[in-house]
Amino acid sequence: MTQKIAVLPGDGIGPEIVAEAIKVLDYLNADMGLDIEFEQGLIGGAAYDASGSPFPEATLNLVKQADAVLLGAVGGYKWESLDIAVRPEKGLLGLRSELELFSNLRPAILYPQLAEASTLKPEVVAGLNLMIVRELTGGIYFGQPRGVRVLENGERQGYNTLVYSESEIRRIAHSAFKIAQKRDKRLCSVDKANVLECTELWREVMDEVAKEYPDVALSHMYVDNAAMQLVRAPKQFDVMVTTNMFGDILSDTASMLTGSIGMLPSASLDINGKGMYEPIHGSAPDIAGKGIANPLATILSAAMMLRYTFDQAGAADRIEQAVNDALNSNARTADIYSEGMKQVSTSEMGDAVVNALKVRAQNND
Ligand code: NAD
Repeated sequence: MTQKIAVLPGDGIGPEIVAEAIKVLDYLNADMGLDIEFEQGLIGGAAYDASGSPFPEATLNLVKQADAVLLGAVGGYKWESLDIAVRPEKGLLGLRSELELFSNLRPAILYPQLAEASTLKPEVVAGLNLMIVRELTGGIYFGQPRGVRVLENGERQGYNTLVYSESEIRRIAHSAFKIAQKRDKRLCSVDKANVLECTELWREVMDEVAKEYPDVALSHMYVDNAAMQLVRAPKQFDVMVTTNMFGDILSDTASMLTGSIGMLPSASLDINGKGMYEPIHGSAPDIAGKGIANPLATILSAAMMLRYTFDQAGAADRIEQAVNDALNSNARTADIYSEGMKQVSTSEMGDAVVNALKVRAQNND
């Protein structure tokens, strides 16, 4: 059955980097008969300019009918003074909530060729490959009641509520266990169960769900220790699962272990595995239109799409190997360039990945 990908290039470097991911998918589509088709839509500032809304009705219809969404990035100087309700970023939030994307996957992968880019010692991070699964639609960012109130003594008091229902924990647990099954089958659940009752329940439910996945080894870690371990010995982790706020902080920490924002993909999944795939970086308006942006995070997002929504692990592996081969050929965009390497443009990096796919296909690798 034909699988439909809604392609939303967005703003800034978005169209440039998405074009390279499509180039790679087009090649694999022809080579492996993946039976995927693309339909483009508008999101963010580009959508606002065309229709007055950063998330128009036509885009909502497109993403609802699609099997997966490939997104570039949104935002830019041009739209910064707009009312908050129609800012480009609002389009992205609308997209996430309309599709009920509760499971956010953020891999932190450090290709050995780029180990010098990390602020950590190369031996601590070279070959790092971990996945953080963050609950995205619940927890303290959404809990009620919330606000700032005035106490009887006239002092102001700010308050937020950390709340997770059993069903919310259960569904993110299933999502994380399934991801661990596709990797090294080790899952570390991160909480603060020694202090917060809400995450005591989180831990209990994780243990219950674990019984349905006997092939996955579940461990628990307090968030303060997890933060420390991430910078001390990050290679000990395979998959980590955690709450919205802890995941927000830990996934940014993990991404910086790799030192290069242009290399990291992400996915946000719904209950059926339908997903939105995007690089973790923004629209980089400072370099937009110059043809120098790194397209690898977007190309690797396309690989995640094949793995997690379309169950095409073989095709995903091929893209990830081809990215590795392209780096081995010394191709580097400006953001990851170092002396002795070959500096390439955005489209030349896309070509290097397609070329690596072709070479492996010719050699039957
Ligand atoms: P950014 O990620 O766009 O850029 C930060 C720095 O990294 C810049 O110097 C940029 O040139 C560089 N960079 C980013 N991606 C790169 C790539 N692929 N190749 C080479 N260099 C790259 O973050 P920012 O500057 O804080 O935000 C710019 C705009 O993007 C803002 O409007 C912001 O709201 C938006 N934004 C969007 C998303 C998203 O669409 N998911 C995420 C973050 C920020």
